[in-house]
Amino acid sequence: MKSLKRSFGDSTANISSKVFIRSLKSGRVQKVVREQYLRKDISCSSQLCSACASNAAADASGNVPKPVLSRQPARTKSFPTGHYIVPDTNVLLTGIDLLEHSDAFYDVIILQTVLDELRNRSLPLYNRIMSLVKSEDKRFYLFFNEFRAETNVVREESETVNDRNDRSIRKSAGWYATHLKAAAKKNAPAIVVITNDADNRRKAEVEGIEALSLREYVSGLENADHLLDMVAEGQDRAVQGELIYPDYFTQSRVQTGLKAGVLHQGVFHVSPHNYLEGTVKVPAFDKPLLILGRESSNRSVSGDVVVVEVLSKDQWKQPSSKIIDEEAMNQNEGAEDEGEGSGPIITEGERKALQEEVKSAHHAGADRAQPTAKVVGVMKRSWRQYVGTVDASAGGGNRQQTVFLVPMDKKIPKIRMRTRQVDQLIGKRVVATIDAWDRDSRYPAGHFVRSLGGLETKEAETEALLLEFDVQYRPFPKAILDCLPSEGHNWTVPQDKSDPGWVGRKDLRELLVCSIDPPGCQDIDDALHARQLPNGNFEVGVHIADVPHFVRPNNAMDAEATSRGTTVYLVDKRIDMLPSLLGTDLCSLKPNVERYAFSTIWELTPDAEIVKADFTKSVIYSREGFSYEAAQKRVDDKSAQDDLTAGMRHLLRLSKLLRAKRMAAGALNLSSPEVRIESAETSNETGDPLADVKTKASLETNSLVEEFMLLANTTVATKIQSVFPQTALLRRHAEPPVSNFADLSDQLKRMRDMELDVSSSKALADSLDKCIDPEHPFFNTLIRILATRCMTSAEYFCSGSHAEPEFRHYGLASEIYTHFTSPIRRYADLLVHRQLAYAISYEGQGSEVVDEGLRNKNKLENVCRNLNFRHRNAQHAGRASIEYYVGQALKQRQAKMGDEGVVEDGYVMRVFENGAVIFVRKFGIEGVVRLEDFDLSPRKKSKKDQRTENEEGLITKESEFEPENYALTVFEKGKKDTTGRRIELFQEVKVRVSSEEKGGAREKGKRKVLQSLALLMTAEPTTMQGVFRDMTPLSISKLDVADSLEDSPAIAETGGGDNNTIWPPRKAPATAIAMSPTRIPASPSVLTQDKALRNKSHLYIRNFPYAAQGEDLRKFFVGHDIVSTSVPVNPRTNRAVGYHFVTFRGGADAQRAVDALSGKLVVEQEVFVQITRDS
Ligand SMILES: [Zn+2]
Repeated sequence: MKSLKRSFGDSTANISSKVFIRSLKSGRVQKVVREQYLRKDISCSSQLCSACASNAAADASGNVPKPVLSRQPARTKSFPTGHYIVPDTNVLLTGIDLLEHSDAFYDVIILQTVLDELRNRSLPLYNRIMSLVKSEDKRFYLFFNEFRAETNVVREESETVNDRNDRSIRKSAGWYATHLKAAAKKNAPAIVVITNDADNRRKAEVEGIEALSLREYVSGLENADHLLDMVAEGQDRAVQGELIYPDYFTQSRVQTGLKAGVLHQGVFHVSPHNYLEGTVKVPAFDKPLLILGRESSNRSVSGDVVVVEVLSKDQWKQPSSKIIDEEAMNQNEGAEDEGEGSGPIITEGERKALQEEVKSAHHAGADRAQPTAKVVGVMKRSWRQYVGTVDASAGGGNRQQTVFLVPMDKKIPKIRMRTRQVDQLIGKRVVATIDAWDRDSRYPAGHFVRSLGGLETKEAETEALLLEFDVQYRPFPKAILDCLPSEGHNWTVPQDKSDPGWVGRKDLRELLVCSIDPPGCQDIDDALHARQLPNGNFEVGVHIADVPHFVRPNNAMDAEATSRGTTVYLVDKRIDMLPSLLGTDLCSLKPNVERYAFSTIWELTPDAEIVKADFTKSVIYSREGFSYEAAQKRVDDKSAQDDLTAGMRHLLRLSKLLRAKRMAAGALNLSSPEVRIESAETSNETGDPLADVKTKASLETNSLVEEFMLLANTTVATKIQSVFPQTALLRRHAEPPVSNFADLSDQLKRMRDMELDVSSSKALADSLDKCIDPEHPFFNTLIRILATRCMTSAEYFCSGSHAEPEFRHYGLASEIYTHFTSPIRRYADLLVHRQLAYAISYEGQGSEVVDEGLRNKNKLENVCRNLNFRHRNAQHAGRASIEYYVGQALKQRQAKMGDEGVVEDGYVMRVFENGAVIFVRKFGIEGVVRLEDFDLSPRKKSKKDQRTENEEGLITKESEFEPENYALTVFEKGKKDTTGRRIELFQEVKVRVSSEEKGGAREKGKRKVLQSLALLMTAEPTTMQGVFRDMTPLSISKLDVADSLEDSPAIAETGGGDNNTIWPPRKAPATAIAMSPTRIPASPSVLTQDKALRNKSHLYIRNFPYAAQGEDLRKFFVGHDIVSTSVPVNPRTNRAVGYHFVTFRGGADAQRAVDALSGKLVVEQEVFVQITRDS
């Protein structure tokens, strides 16, 4: 065992001390001396340097790492001897795509100072830089400049942190230059600092250090042209044009305003039907605040956290009754003439639209007016990468020009970006980011990131969808696969019962267990059994895959699963949360193999009353893997008299009783008709491609599984809450505010004279039952779909963060609820398994590793936030995938059949002044039908003629809107009597759904492939024609039965909208290098008056290697006088700061401890220890 301890002779020179004062909660003041032990053996890692090679610190296993930076780095005109790059934090933040590019940016020195700052600013970007550092081919070297004596910089009194960091970068660059000159003489490469900060560049010049802006640097590269497209806009440009947007309030004015209640903070959401209308929900107002027009939204992008000022009451108005599309409104706008200050903030068309809006405001009744507001500040941008298309109106050629990227997401404004490769980008799916939105530019400025490939190619569209919903889809790296059992698919439950795997497990292999799932399900989370007991009661078991047995806390696989949060189901692709070896094999409760499980076993009376519930880890042997349909058949088959079938019949009977009880308690039945894609891959050659799209049938056996999963989830929730009162991971569904239902209530009242009672979930459930139209059986479902959209979203939470009455799950009418039944595909369930295992004092395999996070409220809250975000995105991605599939199937069908699409039933969901939203039941999708797409022709015309007439403007349509009656009459100009067609809310209509032919004017600015899907209407009492542009399909099939309510569409829609992308927390990779303090001075140099605090030392241990295995730090300090150990959390970010923190009774004891520690830790991994003394 090699000790890390090194001697540096004169120790004082190696100690950097920082003294700071902090005030304690008690009101006392504490003086802290932080000492850092500096070293001279941190390598420059250049292959040109022999000095460092012989002197460099060895890593934990005694190996000196190979130098990273090339002997012959890239040469350019300006740097004939080659160069190493030193980027600053801002360059990492804005230029990450360039740094990752394979054509440039090799031999890069990442300074510790810069990396630390990056970690605070953006965790995802930090992770991307770390993977560059780890990958060998790009030659990124992480230089611990703060620990090396010559490059350490102490902040001066009057210096800002920023200035200090800039100085630190210059100092490191300067040291590198001198150091390499000594090593390589004339051949020494140039050290080039890249910074967009002009002031920093100026200072560098004075100090004789090469410094360039990112744009300057890239311009000097050989293949500059296509790389320049990727340089962020606005970084090195001064605002120069006319200031068309108002300035934001100063930070202090915002803070004062928020405190005084004059200003309000919330998330800005753009309406999907009107890009000029946004809303911000704030606690002070019942109704969301309306933000109308560009000037009021003042450069905020949907998802941003903004600060708003409410306008005076005379400016309040009703939400828009008009569909307004950005691409239709500003169709021929060129990106070239835009920007740099030319033109007004709103275009002529927008002005007109807004004026009409204002008019309608005046005759809006006072009761329906909504408060309006304007944005005066942006607290947090939610900018991310956006997928879209380059506006085809841009000219060709390879000169540099400015074009618009039209994002797929209609709520995001067009992004202005410069490119030299327009020709290559048109017709492609393109990824871009927003860099800035200055006051002199109508649209945000951004830059090109990459092209995903041709529009409507499966690869490009799938990747686009995953990127848009932030789904992590890259294959699992080796570090994660290494966490899997080495036996691979050959792993089996050990036959020898003395095997440690059997400790704490019950042998339930004799039970007649079976699973019931959707057809083709491979990742089987749950299985069930039931049998009658001698006393006449029933024993029912729900057996859930024992995933935590294979996924140990805090290892690489666990970290990845935390981050992914959930498995994402697309039509023809599943993006797993866990490697498939576990998901579809070792954990999957397949029939005819033994599997580890976590079982919940109840004794129920024949009336389905719970007598008792038990939990145990188990080994089960499933007898059958049924599909819902097969299970239904078996139950219905009178000739089947075996014990397994008898058990299933018990289950079915009990489930009906359970369901009746839930309904009586007020559970809502909000299930919407779900669409299922039967066999996406195999739509046969001759048949109808649309044949795969099926409405999901609901069988009794669906409900059977659902009831017992709900029961298991509720039972487990109660148990873990009793053991973890502060940190149980639960799921709640908040009661929606009554005002959410105001519109729907009014609509039902006026259109059907029906009452919606929203006083409780029970009242709502009962009144929904009464919403029946005998003529239209689908009416009731339609109302349920609309009611669901009025609700808030269900969410995971940590029990300590809400008062107990708020635990309630409104939709399920349950006082407490959690997710336990799907650990293969939901991370929440995996954590709940760990909590339950702890709660029942499970002492078998894996229990020795305790996940400390289970008892850390801050950590758990962060995990919940990520899970909620991932869960929502997974649902959206799944729906978008079905949407895309339906569009493609329609297109294929039309190509094959040569017809004009299919005629389907449609239902009017919403009526606007200039169109309507129609729900198409067959496909579970809804779309907008615009005025111009109403078919008014008395005789039957072909779609093509109709279209041509419309496009050539031969038919001018007008409409009459009756807001009070939710009705719209459309007619040819001047011919209301002869051509008028009237539609109203909830009406059933026939629609023709077709795929739009290519090449039309609409092709321009097309955002989604599916928008080319056309909706034609030809039926009584109205004939009309429409075009789908904005498809929001309603629901998708897979997902859980146990949660059908939560999977219904709109619950996800209405929730928070916290698009926090600096998430999720990952364990800091082992960035520390071999290092230990040389000496801790025996006598404190500064003394406080406070005796209690005197002589205490704190030890910060970064990347404590055993922590990953759940070891308690304390056991390394046996015999030492420890006051406490903890993992500190940054209160601002709520994230663990990456240090362990040990407090010792005395300074000398800390020294002894460190000596002991360095001896122990060296075997495992590199550790950096920093000691702080309170003196
Ligand atoms: Zn060196």
